[in-house]
Amino acid sequence: MTIRVLEEKVISQIAAGEVVERPASVVKELVENSLDAGANQISVEVKDGGLSLIRVTDNGSGISPGEVEVAFRRHATSKVSKLDDLKQIATLGFRGEALPAITAVADVEMLTFASGETAGTIISLRDGELVRKSQAGRPAGTTVTVINLFTHVPARRKFLKSTNTENSRIAAVISAYAIAFPGVRFNLILESRAVLKTPGTGRLLDSLIEIYGQEVANRMLPLVEPDWENVGGIKVSGMTSSPSVSRASRDNLIFLINHRWVMSRLLTKAVEEAYLGLLTVNKHPVAVIEVAMPPEDVDVNVHPTKAEVRFRDERAVFTAVQRAVRRTLVRQATVPGVSEAAIAYSPTPYPPSPSPLLSPAREHPARMTAETPPTTPRAALPVLRIIGQVLATYIVAEGPDGLYLIDQHAAHERILKEKLAAQLQVHGIKVQGLLEPVAFEVTPAEAAALEARYRELADFGFNIEPFGDGAFLVRTVPSLLGGNWQSALRELIAIQQSSTGTDWTEPVLNLMACHAAVRAGKVLSPDEMRELVRELEKTELPNTCPHGRPTTISISAARLEREFGRRQ
Ligand code: ADP
Ligand code: MG
Repeated sequence: MTIRVLEEKVISQIAAGEVVERPASVVKELVENSLDAGANQISVEVKDGGLSLIRVTDNGSGISPGEVEVAFRRHATSKVSKLDDLKQIATLGFRGEALPAITAVADVEMLTFASGETAGTIISLRDGELVRKSQAGRPAGTTVTVINLFTHVPARRKFLKSTNTENSRIAAVISAYAIAFPGVRFNLILESRAVLKTPGTGRLLDSLIEIYGQEVANRMLPLVEPDWENVGGIKVSGMTSSPSVSRASRDNLIFLINHRWVMSRLLTKAVEEAYLGLLTVNKHPVAVIEVAMPPEDVDVNVHPTKAEVRFRDERAVFTAVQRAVRRTLVRQATVPGVSEAAIAYSPTPYPPSPSPLLSPAREHPARMTAETPPTTPRAALPVLRIIGQVLATYIVAEGPDGLYLIDQHAAHERILKEKLAAQLQVHGIKVQGLLEPVAFEVTPAEAAALEARYRELADFGFNIEPFGDGAFLVRTVPSLLGGNWQSALRELIAIQQSSTGTDWTEPVLNLMACHAAVRAGKVLSPDEMRELVRELEKTELPNTCPHGRPTTISISAARLEREFGRRQ
């Protein structure tokens, strides 16, 4: 085949493919333009999942008549002029690609009026060509109407999902920007239905209420102020959900880097790590993480859709986010009320309003201010009076606000986990020497995994060395494990086999705690129960086991009264 340079039109279509993947990409680019134009009201209307119509109307700066046509040319932008500008980008757009990319795959009309000008402009482009340009009036701002999206690009059309799916992606884009810019009034109309309206008050919480509802918004925790100096000019703010809220997907993690909405695996991992031990596996939080950092430390020019960024110092950003979230959770985690342990969206107010009997030193009553949601009490258990045990598994107790049920295994796991962590930090984990070294047999796969890590296991109390083919010699084991050490070691190897190579401490301690903890089904004496609960009260995170299951659920006095019909 002969090699030749492509026609301009083909080049535009290829380039457009990178920017405009699907209808939601068009919405994203147009909304970014409106935000860059300083709009504080943006309305988005969509028909047929965006294929028949996408219309974005703003009250931003508008474009002067002389510049409207240029705006549709490739690489035409008002936001960047020299190479150095790329190092410090403060606007959402800068590549000058969106408008030409959209006109390459759809028919576009723009009506715009820049305040101070004598006339507005209407311009229509079909198939990438200008078909109309004339004067027209409207208040200051811009309306871009996109129709027949992908009509001439059947290949792209084939990749689209159902109208519902495309609409939900569009809604996700608008939700993210409504959260990133709470000062802007957003209005989203999908298939003639108003689905989202934000008030534009400038308060993040108000946007969250509109998007996630009051229930979830009430349980969002404002991120604790981090120590700015420690983390190299990186400031983390925003809100993250209490562990009582969880979602089956990661779609509700929103990251904003200098107000730009980005996808970031790094930061997703940072947030999820902060929830280790607080959420069950496969459950994910809702979070809005805003990172403010020097623009020169983040490269936004990595991808045509600008959805990914690169950090100069990944570790610093990761640590800042992980710490800010973790600290917030540790300070504010709480005992889940039984209503929400049992029913996902119970209308019962949460947290149960603290009764005046609550020991004031350990619990703070929820305080409502305009800025912050009612905060959940600190991570503390009230003093409990043991009543007995049910099913040889749960300890029944009375607390100041009603009835408490404690999962004995989960509670013991939490206690042991924190003990082990403390031992590890101070003197090292207590070991017990075996009377005689024991040969521990392993499969080749296990051998490979253990080979890589047996030296580190010494820190956790296992003194082990290779012992010829298919065996390791074990000299000491963690004393806590006692006779259970063989099965624990076997599982440790399994963790290593499936691990991604990150820090091992957390899973190892969790596993040891699990193996050593009292089993469900074991009958406990009143003294044993009292001791267990007393120890649980002393832990840092008494309300969840290391795997994130609750240790304790409570049924408030008010709830009991309601259930028994004593009160409405
Ligand atoms: P970029 O946003 O990367 O600059 P675009 O192709 O998206 O490139 O837009 C080109 C230019 O058109 C922008 O730089 C801006 O000057 C102008 N523009 C686009 N949309 C709007 C709008 N809604 N309001 C005001 N100006 C706009
Ligand atoms: Mg743009």
